[in-house]
This record gives sequence, structure tokens and C-alpha cells, in this order.
Amino acid sequence: MKPNVIDEIVKNELCIGCGTCAGICPQKILKIQDNEYGEYIPSEIQVCDSHCGLCLEVCPFGNNENETQIGAKIYGSIEGMKYLPETGYYLDSYVGYSNEFRQRSASGGMATWLLTKLLKEDVVDYVICPTSQKNPEKLFSFEILSDKNYVKSSSGSVYYPVEMSEVIQKILETPGRYVITGLPCFIKALRLASQRNRKLRERIVFTIGLVCGQMKSKNYTKYIAALAGNKDLNKIQNVYYRGKSPEKPASNFYFQSTDEHGAQQKIFWNEGVSEAWVNRWFTPNACNYCDDVFAELADVTFMDAWLPEYSNDSRGTNLVLVRSPEIQVIIQKGIEELEITTSEIPVKKVKQSQSGVLELKRKQLSYRLYLAKQKGLKVPEKRVNPSKDIGLLKKREIKLKTLMQEESKQLFLNYCQNQFVEGETFRSRMNPFVRQTCQLRFLGKFTLLPMRTIKRICK
Ligand SMILES: Cc1cc2nc3c(=O)[nH]c(=O)nc-3n(C[C@H](O)[C@H](O)[C@H](O)COP(=O)(O)OP(=O)(O)OC[C@H]3O[C@@H](n4cnc5c(N)ncnc54)[C@H](O)[C@@H]3O)c2cc1C
Ligand code: SF4
Ligand code: SF4
Repeated sequence: MKPNVIDEIVKNELCIGCGTCAGICPQKILKIQDNEYGEYIPSEIQVCDSHCGLCLEVCPFGNNENETQIGAKIYGSIEGMKYLPETGYYLDSYVGYSNEFRQRSASGGMATWLLTKLLKEDVVDYVICPTSQKNPEKLFSFEILSDKNYVKSSSGSVYYPVEMSEVIQKILETPGRYVITGLPCFIKALRLASQRNRKLRERIVFTIGLVCGQMKSKNYTKYIAALAGNKDLNKIQNVYYRGKSPEKPASNFYFQSTDEHGAQQKIFWNEGVSEAWVNRWFTPNACNYCDDVFAELADVTFMDAWLPEYSNDSRGTNLVLVRSPEIQVIIQKGIEELEITTSEIPVKKVKQSQSGVLELKRKQLSYRLYLAKQKGLKVPEKRVNPSKDIGLLKKREIKLKTLMQEESKQLFLNYCQNQFVEGETFRSRMNPFVRQTCQLRFLGKFTLLPMRTIKRICK
């Protein structure tokens, strides 16, 4: 009898809710549902009597092969391929934007450009990506699209849970050539599933990855919608996370929610959104044990150009890591046809643009693994070892953010009653933690203070 995801992953709070286990289960006994925190998790709708263990084999948080091992099999023998431990395999790196899609997209619109190009050039039959649903309880879901206009209207970043169980089942039922967008853990799950299923392997012809620092639960969106002024959850028809303003830098984007009458509420990153984002409020626990920054198993990965020379441009700019030679040719063609304004950029700039996420998912991960082992928690094998070799202030910051992550989940339940969110009250209850992080940051600037003083303040 092989172990399954419910015992190994869900009960240990390691599920990111990707839905791959439910999509591939031969008996269809797993169903993805919301938990009270607004995160997706699988549950058994019938008793499993086969115990085949396939669900755990495809889970990105199961102890299966890591990204480096899987990446070596997919990309290792391609001519011209390079490798860095931080980025995984890559052929080339680019900076640029799409001339057509930039304004409505999250960054430079190159992901949407590529998806529509693949359809237009008849390289794929279907694009799979999250689309808006106009349903307050399920604002986004993965859909299968064959019309370029729908792909275009699905641009933007979705900081909201989406899961792949239904689209995986549809791919298995319907022959065709599919391209799918996903976060690093989702792409890993698809690679693990494709290794074990010929139909998935043949039909998913391309995977498009997005750099990822963390996911957020549905409650995150409820909270920031309330901060923006839409406190009645029944009224939220759709949301957009990355609005651009010509007078603001790309990093100060706005969140917008629209109610059933078309009235819109807006809130900028600097007006409260960043506080919840950077302090890891509403972040699923699984993200604490993730070491893939650059979606290392995707055929191409898109990200924001968080570099001083680009981030002041409110229109947004992409950095791109390409792993598939076919995608590389399509990008070159896009440049020649003047559809994208894109040029090569050294990979060290790509790494530099994500230095914060790299620290989070490598150095800080080591300490989180160390803490988890100390507590006797079950955590997946990672490519970094558990270690407490990190500065005192950093240790405190990591602990504080983990505390905020847990506290925000529980506390939100008290301030979200009958679909009505008391956002400001919730925020004021989180404020003491935020004050402590500010103090830490302040202390960080005075690292020359005697260690004894710092230790006393940290306590
Ligand atoms: C949760 C999350 C965290 C991220 N963290 C970072 C980060 O730390 N640093 C960084 O540089 N970039 C990060 N990104 C990526 C960044 O926000 C942009 O998505 C990326 O730069 C592509 O921009 P674009 O303008 O080319 O994409 P667009 O042209 O806007 O197209 C994006 C495509 O991706 C699809 N998509 C959006 N969200 C999701 C999702 N959750 N799952 C699957 N597909 C999706 C859309 O439907 C669309 O087809 C993150 C994205 C997400 C969703
Ligand atoms: S495969 Fe995905 S949904 Fe299933 S247990 Fe693992 S992370 Fe959760
Ligand atoms: S941080 Fe990692 S686990 Fe969390 S959503 Fe992003 S890729 Fe998945």
C-alpha cells in the first residue's frame, strides 16, 4: 500500500493546491476544494482502494526528483544550453516588451504576446491560463482557450489560487497541442505527471513559467479589496492586480476590484498592499519550502525587470529566460517582425533582478528548514541544507514573518463574517508585528551596535 497525498502532503500543510494529483488520479477520487483559509487542497470523495501512489509521485512537494535532476533530463543535452544553480538550465536571456500587449499586461506583456503568437502561427491548438470568472467565490480558474482575444483578455498576474485538476482531465480526454502557463511548483507537477503519462507528455507541447516569490490565498484578495473600499465580498465581480499609472514607477502598481454595478475601487501597492505582500500575510505554508525561483522546468520563464534601469518605467518591462530552442526561434522572429522590442541581457542581470527572491528561497529557506527540523515537522527534501548560519536580525525577521503568516490566516476569520470584511480592524491587529519588523529594519542600519544590545532588543 503506497502513501498518498492526503497523509503525506495535506496533513503536513505542504499542499500548494495545484490540483495535479486530482487531475491524474485514475479513480478520480480526489477533489480540489477550498479550506477555511481560502487555499485549495485535495480531499477524498470516495475511499481509495487502489493505493497506487500516483498522486504522491506527481506532487511537487513529494520527495521525488528535484528541479535540477528533472531539468537535466529535459534540457541537459540540448546544444548551447547553459546552467547556473540559481536559474537552472537556459539558452538565452532577454529584456524587453511587447509593443501590443504591454499596457494591459503585468510586466512587459511578452507572455501574452508569446501565447497569442503560438496560436497565430498554428504551433499550438490551445492555450491554458487563468481567466476571470465573475464569481465572487472563484474569481479565476484555469481555462482552455483557442481564441487569441480571450488569451489577450487573460493577461495580467493572478495572485489568487487556481488549480489544474479539470484542465488536466480535459487534456487527457481531448487530443491536441496545448501550451500552459504556471508558477514554478505547478510546472514541476506537470513535468512529474508528464513523465508518468504519455498523453500529457505528447499533448503539453510547451510550458510557460512565471518567476514566483510566493502565492496568496483567496483571503488575501478579500482583504485588499476591503482595503480598497469593497468590503462586501458578494459584490466583487472581478479584480485586476497590476494596474499601471503613467505617473508612477512600474513597482507602484494598483489593485482594482469591480462590483456588480461596474463601480471600481482602487488601491496602490504603497497604500497597504505591499505591507500584506512583503510580510507574507496569507501566504500558503507550502511556499516556505520552495527553492525554485525561475520556474526551472518551464520552456521559457517570464518575470519583471526589477532593475533600477527599468523599474521606473510605468509601462513595465520583462526579463526572459529561454530553455526551448523552438521558443528561442519564435522570439527571434518576433524581434525581426517588430512585434517585440527585445534584446539580449547578461544572465547576471536576470539574477540581480530577483536577488530578494533568491535570498528568500535559498539562504532563508535553509533557516526555515532548520527551524522545521527543530520542531520535528515533516518537510520535503530541498536543494539547500538546513542551517542556522544566518545573521541574528535575519533570524528574527524570518521568525516574525512566519508568525505573521500564521496569525493572518487565523485572525482574518474573526474579521470576515457573513461575507463582510473589516479590513482596517484586521490591519490594526496585525500592526504590532509590522512595528517589530520596522524596528528590525531600523536596527539593521545600526549593525555596529554592540551585539549584546541587539540581542536584548530582539528579545
Ligand atoms: C503569484 C505570482 C508571483 C510572482 N512573483 C514574481 C516575482 O517575485 N518576481 C518577478 O519578477 N515576477 C513575479 N511574477 C511574475 C510577474 O508578475 C509576471 O507574471 C511576469 O513578469 C510576466 O509578465 P507579462 O507582462 O509578460 O505577462 P502577461 O502578458 O500579463 O501574461 C501573464 C500570463 O500568465 C498567466 N498567469 C497569471 N497569473 C498566473 C498564475 N497564478 N498561474 C498561472 N498563470 C498565470 C496569465 O493568464 C497570462 O496568460 C509572479 C507572478 C505570480 C502570478
Ligand atoms: S499535487 Fe498539488 S494539489 Fe495535490 S497534494 Fe500536491 S500540491 Fe497539493
Ligand atoms: S513560492 Fe513556490 S510553492 Fe509557492 S506558489 Fe510560488 S512556486 Fe509555488
